[in-house]
Amino acid sequence: MAAFALISDLHANLEAVEAVLARIDQLGVREIACLGDVVGYGADPLPVARLVLQRCSWCIQGNHDWGLFHELDDFNPLAREALLYSRHMLQPGFLRFGRRAVWDFLRRLPQRMEAHGFLFCHGSPRDPVMEYVLKSDGFLEPEKMQQIFALVDRPCFVGHTHWPGLHRPDYRFHQATDDNHRFRLEGPCIVNVGSVGQPRDGDPRASFAVVDGDTVEIHRVPYDFRRTQAKILAAGLHPALAERLARGK
Ligand code: ZN
Repeated sequence: MAAFALISDLHANLEAVEAVLARIDQLGVREIACLGDVVGYGADPLPVARLVLQRCSWCIQGNHDWGLFHELDDFNPLAREALLYSRHMLQPGFLRFGRRAVWDFLRRLPQRMEAHGFLFCHGSPRDPVMEYVLKSDGFLEPEKMQQIFALVDRPCFVGHTHWPGLHRPDYRFHQATDDNHRFRLEGPCIVNVGSVGQPRDGDPRASFAVVDGDTVEIHRVPYDFRRTQAKILAAGLHPALAERLARGK
């Protein structure tokens, strides 16, 4: 099996997506797949969704992608406002050429995938779009982890929390850091590939993963977040969505 890259939680951040795709090309990795949340939060949902459509072999649905087509009552006010913006920028209509293919692509995203002998979803194997597998769940929610691991018989890749790392069946979370970012894939485990477009682990660099045989490596890539911040502000989105990109939180 050739190596493949996993990107997730792009959140309409074009600068981060371009930096990550350039790094994946540099690494010589040909196959890319996306674990969802293409849209929301950022200013560039259309160009980011187009890149996913062009470059990824497949993409699964994240909660923000789901939100494009459903009621937004369960989203917090910032997420809701940004999703209305994403919806507006993506919706096909009169004199809005070329949006139909992207819109239909996002509307039809599957919620789970199996490929290369692995499982993939955005959130959790139990509730693939909405549920978070948090790094604290191992010690705070052992029953939840027990139920989730009962559904997993091999490595499962997720996004959603924007925290890269790996849960082993002992429920311990191994956070990906500069010193510890390669993990062996053996037996059931849940690998979080982190977020391209809105990291929350205190590291503002974009995060993605490369799977090669029985190893997964988390990569971090710096990008020009000041440009992204300026676009978020110019789009009239909430300044907090711009500020957090500098902190990676
Ligand atoms: Zn997300």
